[in-house]
Amino acid sequence: KKVADRYLKREVLGEGTYGVVYKAIDTQTGQTVAIKKIRLGKQKEGVNFTALREIKLLKELKDPNIIELIDAFPHKGNLHLVFEFMETDLEAVIRDRNIFLSPADIKSYLQMTLKGLAFCHKKWVLHRDMKPNNLLIGPNGQLKLADFGLARVFGSPDRRFTHQVFARWYRAPELLFGTKQYGSGVDVWAAACIFAELLLRRPFLQGSSDIDQLAPPLRSLFPVASDDALDLLAKMFTYDPKVRISVQQALEHRYFTSAPLPTYPDKLPRPA
Ligand code: ADP
Repeated sequence: KKVADRYLKREVLGEGTYGVVYKAIDTQTGQTVAIKKIRLGKQKEGVNFTALREIKLLKELKDPNIIELIDAFPHKGNLHLVFEFMETDLEAVIRDRNIFLSPADIKSYLQMTLKGLAFCHKKWVLHRDMKPNNLLIGPNGQLKLADFGLARVFGSPDRRFTHQVFARWYRAPELLFGTKQYGSGVDVWAAACIFAELLLRRPFLQGSSDIDQLAPPLRSLFPVASDDALDLLAKMFTYDPKVRISVQQALEHRYFTSAPLPTYPDKLPRPA
């Protein structure tokens, strides 16, 4: 039985923040896709026009480091978002004890993350929910940001699902203080947390008071990181969002041009 006369449903991939995600085959292209079914039951008015207009904008966001939103349609009272299918994610890479991440591998993963962010920030779209399991990895090792703009369309995930404490680990100080006005700096802070997690191979700021850790020199927390890596990390972990480095500036940091150069995506280690 086809969904919307086009997609052949396969197995459920998992339950996400906004609803069930399942694998499917796009019969028009033969491509394997992931369909995110977003429950709209509680919002009496259904998907409002603003949400639909924003979804349309997300469909226009096309970049090698952004998951492509192939299609979006309402079906049986749920909104279905169709994305390209991805094999694994950065969380699985970080957690896999059989994987050794070289300094060049870490540089490559961070560079792809920042490139995806830079593209969206240029279009004035924030991610707001950056975390390693939202950084999906395709068959050729390309890292792509998932769930772009969804936080804005459907509400901040952690307000709806307070049990998702892990999302807090990546929250910028201005968000923890409850600022209503924030900008692209929140994604830079989250990218810094992911950079730190790649270096440490565990989440960096896990407790509410862990941010105090940023008071001692970063060198003592990341003994094996290069000077260039630490300089960039410090600029991304700047408390004041107005002073914090931008994504574009981060990409122009000498860390990315000094040796070792970033690993080519198809040479990156991935879970077996
Ligand atoms: P969360 O909201 O917790 O980030 P998601 O809704 O993004 O979770 O995803 C739920 C599950 O579906 C996860 O196991 C994730 O790996 C899988 N998934 C999401 N998007 C894709 C995709 N494009 N390709 C393959 N699997 C996906």
